[in-house]
Amino acid sequence: MANTANEGKKFLDSVHQYFDHAASYSKLSPGILAQIKATNSVYKVSFPVEIEGRIEVFEGIRVQHSHHKLPSKGGIRFSMQVDEDEVKALAALMTFKCAVVDVPFGGAKGGVKINPRTSSVKTLEKVTRRYAAELIKKNLIGPGMDVPAPDYGTGSREMAWIADTYQALKYGETNALGCVTGKPVGQGGIRGRAEATGLGIYFGLRELLADSDILKGRGLSGNTMEGKRIIVQGLGNVGYHAAYFCQQDGAIITGIAEREGGIYNDNGIDVKEAFKHRSENGSILNFKDCKNYENSEEMLELECDILLPAALENVIHIGNAGNIKAKIVAEGANGPVTREAEDVLLQNNILILPDLYLNAGGVTVSYFEWLKNLSNVRFGRMGKRAEEASYRRLVNAIETSSGKSMTANERAFLTQGADEISLVRSGLEDTMINAYHEIRDVMIQKNTPGLRTAAFLAAIEKIGVSYEALGIFP
Ligand code: GLU
Repeated sequence: MANTANEGKKFLDSVHQYFDHAASYSKLSPGILAQIKATNSVYKVSFPVEIEGRIEVFEGIRVQHSHHKLPSKGGIRFSMQVDEDEVKALAALMTFKCAVVDVPFGGAKGGVKINPRTSSVKTLEKVTRRYAAELIKKNLIGPGMDVPAPDYGTGSREMAWIADTYQALKYGETNALGCVTGKPVGQGGIRGRAEATGLGIYFGLRELLADSDILKGRGLSGNTMEGKRIIVQGLGNVGYHAAYFCQQDGAIITGIAEREGGIYNDNGIDVKEAFKHRSENGSILNFKDCKNYENSEEMLELECDILLPAALENVIHIGNAGNIKAKIVAEGANGPVTREAEDVLLQNNILILPDLYLNAGGVTVSYFEWLKNLSNVRFGRMGKRAEEASYRRLVNAIETSSGKSMTANERAFLTQGADEISLVRSGLEDTMINAYHEIRDVMIQKNTPGLRTAAFLAAIEKIGVSYEALGIFP
């Protein structure tokens, strides 16, 4: 976890070392590789906010790692651990992530040093709006320039505030809603964005589990999700949805680790119920039939098929990598495995599904949202008659399978969103399947030590092609 400047530096060093290692397989010129690796721009700002009569100064940052494609794209993190190196590492990962899933954006990331859990909604709104205004007045964000999104500590509420601030300051600008993604559906968002990262993780894992050649000799039985034992770290937006979709497809969630501690049950934990329990009690601990773990980090070392770190960076490090017993480490978080830890995991025959591929579902659906905002359409709009006929078929199917008639509200929800959500989900599924096969093929053809090097290499080659085609200005 990046709780000191040193942790941020470690994270950035890891990303650079991953890059250098992958770059050693590429035939691109050293100059182009240096440009692909470099951070293009960093903007740091301090701004005052009045809170209950006092003035407090906050620190914010926005890093644009790559301008090879515009806009650049990446979330905004609210946390007391935000520091420049951490945000640089995250911005770089966004560049490579977008390239892996062929989303035509450069990479960026932002952050504000604030604890969202102990701040009031009013403070959060003031800080979000002022931070956004600082970026807007320097022309740093905008639909064609740089487009933020949610990340650790932020969500659709903060994105709505950013969109509103943008529209207020850039009154009348065309396509202004495309200045940020992850907005609420009623404010220019897209159905399916909230669960997109988690659903993408499920699709990625499902694809790996169906790949019997890659899984050979790793002690995993069957080639589906059915019965796979998963420990998840982090029950936030990413961890919750990933665990939920895996459970829906037959996986057994045996452990959930959170900040305050963790819970374990060999027979499986109902993820939805555990989430409800945590919201109601403010803690995951003491959930029915589960063993409590006061120190949830110990849970990373428990026996399981899939370990799914879905919280913060550097949680699997040289100090615990040798004790990891999972057969697959699925990186829901950005940067959960340090460079030295990766060597240990690979030596121990543990497969790593890397962050820059596995959690790319979020930015993929952000891309759909941005396209929707730019074209001012609702996805899936059909001819009126076709739409009505498909709606009747859907209602029929649902009523027949559930054995009861739908309420007016449920019907209204369907007419609004059914076509959009199925398009979003199928687009996401397709993206995750294609990208899996692309990086898996690179791993085999280039004989890279794991999927991470292959994913970095695939991304580097695509970005290199962009730079070569663009030429160098002036
Ligand atoms: N914060 C998310 C990530 O790390 C999503 C970024 C986006 O949608 O732009 O991938």
